[in-house]
Amino acid sequence: MKEFELIVIGTGPAGEKAAVKAAYFGHRVAIIEKAAVFGGAEVVTGTLPSKTLKETSLYFSGKYEKGLYGIDRDLKHDASLQDFMYRKNYVTNAAACEIQENLLRHRVEIYHGEASFEDAHTLKICGEKEERIRGEAIIIATGSYPYHPKEIPFDQKRVHDSDTILQIGRFPRSLCVVGAGVIGCEYTTIFATMGCKVYLVNDKEKILPQIDQEIAQDLVEQMRSAEVDILFNTAIASMTVPKEENQPITIRLKTEEILNVDMFLFAAGRSGNIKSLNLDKAGVATGKRETILVNKNYQTNVSHIYAVGDVIGFPALASTSMDQGRVAVAHIFKTEDLEHLPTCFPYGIYTIPEVSMVGTTEEEASAQGLAYCTGKARYEDMARGKIMGAKAGFLKLIFTKPDLTIRGVHVIGHIATEIIHYGMGLVEQKKNLYDVIGTVFNFPTLHDLYKYAAYDGLSNFSGHKVKP
Ligand SMILES: Cc1cc2nc3c(=O)[nH]c(=O)nc-3n(C[C@H](O)[C@H](O)[C@H](O)COP(=O)(O)OP(=O)(O)OC[C@H]3O[C@@H](n4cnc5c(N)ncnc54)[C@H](O)[C@@H]3O)c2cc1C
Repeated sequence: MKEFELIVIGTGPAGEKAAVKAAYFGHRVAIIEKAAVFGGAEVVTGTLPSKTLKETSLYFSGKYEKGLYGIDRDLKHDASLQDFMYRKNYVTNAAACEIQENLLRHRVEIYHGEASFEDAHTLKICGEKEERIRGEAIIIATGSYPYHPKEIPFDQKRVHDSDTILQIGRFPRSLCVVGAGVIGCEYTTIFATMGCKVYLVNDKEKILPQIDQEIAQDLVEQMRSAEVDILFNTAIASMTVPKEENQPITIRLKTEEILNVDMFLFAAGRSGNIKSLNLDKAGVATGKRETILVNKNYQTNVSHIYAVGDVIGFPALASTSMDQGRVAVAHIFKTEDLEHLPTCFPYGIYTIPEVSMVGTTEEEASAQGLAYCTGKARYEDMARGKIMGAKAGFLKLIFTKPDLTIRGVHVIGHIATEIIHYGMGLVEQKKNLYDVIGTVFNFPTLHDLYKYAAYDGLSNFSGHKVKP
């Protein structure tokens, strides 16, 4: 039986980065992947496909150019599904190849097949042939899968989860999305931008409850202006899916409304991929929603077995999964380069418009009893915003009184997920409003949003209009 210093299960962002880092530091590493394509949800079913479709939908709808030059390329009605998926397929294939090349370049030994534990050091791989390999240390990076409630008749034709929506055979004429979390909101805006009538069904009275609710409310308004119908405080009571595709799916909501739609997307919740791992043979403890329990070093209760990425639950992001893999390797091999995942990291929501945040929301500041104040700047008031033809979008700083320390940054608008990173530095390094005011940015850029929000914050704090 072949022996390795480290075996990694899964080639998603958590597994790939862990395997490559350990190999880079000179260790003998194997990685096991059951899927035909490398990259997990980041590449195949989640991050990159949905982000590429978002950009594609903006391109086809002519949104960037329309604001700027008054030109509507009006391609959306002519765009075929093939056109819509073309770039997504290109990006996905390129990313999967790069992962394979990266693993090979670092001499990571690749095994194709499904891994399961025989004992705490031995893994069985069921692929074209059955093999066993032994690892001194093992990292489980098997990711997550979409939750399927029993009452939803998923058929992969018209009734989809977030994996199968990427395999639609034609554009939906209309779509009902259930779940107003990140994935549900992202696909809602992508399909609405492509000209599809979308109904978003949400069992709560708010969307995206983890983000600042002033930003969430602004997103609700922008979705409504894109003709999305958002149905709050309700859920699916029953649904009928006729075999004939020209007949609508009939959905009865708990609030008695009836929706007749062409397609359906369920996007509420995911569970860890642990079913096939035989964790009991290794004695690894598990938690809620099929997650694996770990300590701050990503060690399970079995000290040489680690788990990283979606399989451990929150925050379940590609960004954090990669660094969790790297932190686990630092702990196993004492590489002393990345001991902990930073506690301050941004959230990016690739809706149209984008939303991004770092640090404290107003709701959290109130709940913590912080004496705080806010400052805002709107895209349309910035020179760069005017050049872009921005009609909406703003940045909000949340700072404490009287020290003016910035605790949270919240952005909704064009490339919010890029703009946020300056704000992350402010929150991380406990900078105050004067630090922002005393910084020179390129002009014209959207970073002016920070400076004008800081001046607005000073005005709100002092009660005097501060002239920027
Ligand atoms: C629609 C959608 C949009 C998203 N958008 C973003 C975003 O914008 N930004 C962001 O940061 N995150 C985003 N995410 C989340 C991100 O994709 C995940 O957090 C990330 O992919 C998790 O990485 P992972 O390595 O833990 O698992 P995965 O990426 O799921 O990879 C797990 C791998 O393990 C393999 N595997 C599973 N079991 C076995 C086994 N027994 N044997 C062998 N191989 C196995 C799987 O085949 C898979 O390749 C999104 C997710 C979805 C679904």
